[in-house]
Amino acid sequence: MKAWLDHVGIAVGDLGASLAFFRDVLGLHVDDTEDVASQKVRATFLHMGPSSLELLEATAPESAIAKFVEKRGAGLHHVALRVEDIDAALAHLEARGVHLIDRVARPGAEGARVAFIHPASAHGVLVELKQPRPRVDRFTGPVTHRLGDLELISLSDGFFQLDGGAMFGVVPRTLWETRLPPDDRGRIPLGMRPLIVRGQQTMIIDAGCGDKMDAKSADIYGLERAYHLDHALADAGLTAADIEIVLASHLHFDHVGGFTARDESGRLVPRFPKARYIAHRQEWDDATHPHERNRASYLQENFVPLQEAGVLTLVDDDAEIMPGVKFRRSGGHTAHHQVVMIESRGETAVFTADMYPTAAHIPDPWVMGYDLYPMDTLAFKRAFAREAVERGYLLFFEHEPSMAAGRIREQDGRRRVERVL
Ligand SMILES: [Zn+2]
Ligand SMILES: [Zn+2]
Repeated sequence: MKAWLDHVGIAVGDLGASLAFFRDVLGLHVDDTEDVASQKVRATFLHMGPSSLELLEATAPESAIAKFVEKRGAGLHHVALRVEDIDAALAHLEARGVHLIDRVARPGAEGARVAFIHPASAHGVLVELKQPRPRVDRFTGPVTHRLGDLELISLSDGFFQLDGGAMFGVVPRTLWETRLPPDDRGRIPLGMRPLIVRGQQTMIIDAGCGDKMDAKSADIYGLERAYHLDHALADAGLTAADIEIVLASHLHFDHVGGFTARDESGRLVPRFPKARYIAHRQEWDDATHPHERNRASYLQENFVPLQEAGVLTLVDDDAEIMPGVKFRRSGGHTAHHQVVMIESRGETAVFTADMYPTAAHIPDPWVMGYDLYPMDTLAFKRAFAREAVERGYLLFFEHEPSMAAGRIREQDGRRRVERVL
């Protein structure tokens, strides 16, 4: 069980007198005050980095805090530990015979879920467990958009987490953390959003990370796949057998992990049984000849079985995948990373893959630290953003946690994303 110190709760008799010390003498910053009606207390938080002091003042004589102060005087009341999964933490403690005041988590301040451990089991200390409300909204969909004669359906294969610093390269944390606040391990939540294109044929672009990841990696990457691609396909009225073309923007595991699956005998087989799989020829060469820098991203189990099954087609720059759908090389992230241009009746949508992984990556220099050729990414983005603004492209953001697609709007030289889906 991983836990972080969230706050130390202090029971106070007179909030004004306490603030005269904690705020005025110590100089701590009062962040906010909240009345918790169910507990008959007023909680004042003084934030200090990732932890805080919580001053608790009773608002009624029958409040537990009033009784505590009456019996023992003002002073240390409880210690709160922040956990990622409070249900798992409570199950873990119950299995070890720990005396829990709350066997089931209940609502706490600021939208958190909380539960208390009895001091009898914690050496005289009242311990609160707290699972904060997620700081970033998660959007799953599916969501459909008509583009001329084509139907586009954005799906979700769940969410994962990557180091926020690595996701924003040279951009300082103080700039990106307001947009995508990191968790206690410095990670930010990211979506995995394959896109269905239905025209003459039914195609899927990328397929998320799939279900082959082991428990250790799933923890490192904070995998959340309670709702995944099979659910999303079903919600869109599709099954894996309906997919005729599977297209890879590039061959990193978070994009093509879902290309293969294990059958009953444990053998790796194509996950979409009737599909032809299409990848870029030189991206394939790079993925099957990895080096120290990209080996952890190119997992052979995700794509080599496709070649062995004879369902793989390799194509070159600007290949037309089906009418209205073309590869366009962006490079940068990998040497042959592709965005997918989707056009019908004068309208254009772009599956931007890892060129604009999230809507926060719109500013030209906001380039991922993962990119092998960041100056190539920058050059591509400069030209592409101008084009996208002028022509009103609908952009699909594969890793954006809280939306599927939007358009770049430019005003007074500043660009922002207007959400569409
Ligand atoms: Zn990638
Ligand atoms: Zn990616």
